[in-house]
Amino acid sequence: MFRRVTPQALLPSANHAPSFYTETTQDFPIARDLSADTHCDVCVVGGGYTGLSTALHLAKRGVDVVVLEQSRIGWGASGRNGGQIHVGLRQDVDWLESHVGAARTRKLWDFAIAARDHLDWLVNAYAIDCDLQTGLIHADHRARFGRHTQQQVERLRDKYAYQHIRYLGTEALREIVGSSSYYGGTYDTRGGHLHPLKYALGIARAAISHGANIFEGCHVKRVEARSGGWRVTTGQGMVTADRVVYACNGYMYKLDERVERRVMPINNYIAVTEPLGRVRALSLISNGAAVSDSRFVVNYFRLTADDRLLFGGGENYRYRFPRDIAAFVRPHMLAVYPQLRDVRIDYAWGGTLGITPTRMPYVAELEQGLYSASGFSGLGVVLAPFVGKAVADALCGDREQFELLSGVTVPSFPGGSRLRWPTLVAGMFYYALRDLI
Ligand SMILES: Cc1cc2nc3c(=O)[nH]c(=O)nc-3n(C[C@H](O)[C@H](O)[C@H](O)COP(=O)(O)OP(=O)(O)OC[C@H]3O[C@@H](n4cnc5c(N)ncnc54)[C@H](O)[C@@H]3O)c2cc1C
Repeated sequence: MFRRVTPQALLPSANHAPSFYTETTQDFPIARDLSADTHCDVCVVGGGYTGLSTALHLAKRGVDVVVLEQSRIGWGASGRNGGQIHVGLRQDVDWLESHVGAARTRKLWDFAIAARDHLDWLVNAYAIDCDLQTGLIHADHRARFGRHTQQQVERLRDKYAYQHIRYLGTEALREIVGSSSYYGGTYDTRGGHLHPLKYALGIARAAISHGANIFEGCHVKRVEARSGGWRVTTGQGMVTADRVVYACNGYMYKLDERVERRVMPINNYIAVTEPLGRVRALSLISNGAAVSDSRFVVNYFRLTADDRLLFGGGENYRYRFPRDIAAFVRPHMLAVYPQLRDVRIDYAWGGTLGITPTRMPYVAELEQGLYSASGFSGLGVVLAPFVGKAVADALCGDREQFELLSGVTVPSFPGGSRLRWPTLVAGMFYYALRDLI
């Protein structure tokens, strides 16, 4: 027998992890303490984009909904991510067509486009001030990827009528991205970036405005079926609910084995430089777009509103963050921008995302009245809130989008939730090494 202690990276906390985002956010909504036992129609576990959006869309229809967040709203990946707005799913349309067929791929693509529209709807309908900016470059780190990238662009434009994307040759790309690391790529005018924590808090405020009840510092220990509903045991009070939604993503730990054997936590890291001044900042990315690259361990970067470079790079597959995260990310940043050798890093932090073996989200009704949505595999800024809406729709009787997603098979990691780490670590190191070839 061995005792499992909650891993350091997943430990709930009374405060947000300090970051550039927490420093530049005011006005945190004050969520309540769950001091007394309560009953509701739907209990959502997890206060990130998925859970908050589920709550928003339920409350908007008059459903009595409670959100239980073990730390703070947006404390998980939703308040710490790169803020990059990607259109589409983590797998490209070729992969999807060969795995789920042409008809379902078309529907999934339409879902992804609707998810992007939903982001605009949220920001406009609720006046969410989250530094939204359009434009996303996907940069190839190998010249040999150019042909495939061009084919993908043609397929999206011709077959999927997606005219917002175009191919950039090496020269065109380097005119925008001041780095010799890249050999062409794509430019997507529907992509972009935003301030992820302000976005999460904006969705929370919108949900509260429709009557959702959000409780922070409320760790859910157990969810059990009881006659006609569910009993949710927390570190504070008890909640009984007709239905329950898990929206815990990479932070679910020892709550439901059916989810944990399919959704694996992975740590990813971000560093933010000192302010660079307008001219130097624009020499890195001349049009202010977000950039992500073709590496398996993706580098992603963008400028902030105050002309810093926000750079995400490096992952680890342990339960702990590195002691010095700035030093961990810095070499990745200097490999792309060696000209930043003299620049100070002012902020650095880590976060945990949830990945699945296929990189497709795991959306399921685990048993009647118990739902789960997670495993966005690094692409949740656009998708997670819209998947939250699909779950809310399903709870209100419209199951079409939910069934589109839950119909995509997501297998378990070999070894289940206990042994998934060693298997995954071996796999990830293999692919990470391929980035060097
Ligand atoms: C460093 C980093 C960079 C990223 N960059 C990007 C990017 O640029 N673009 C992009 O599209 N995606 C990015 N992602 C992924 C994206 O952030 C996620 O897909 C998205 O935030 C998922 O939202 P969520 O609500 O499902 O999960 P989370 O935001 O992780 O929320 C889950 C919540 O559940 C809570 N919880 C878990 N267990 C319990 C429990 N037992 N009781 C109560 N509460 C519980 C947690 O505290 C947490 O707040 C990144 C992720 C990371 C970590």
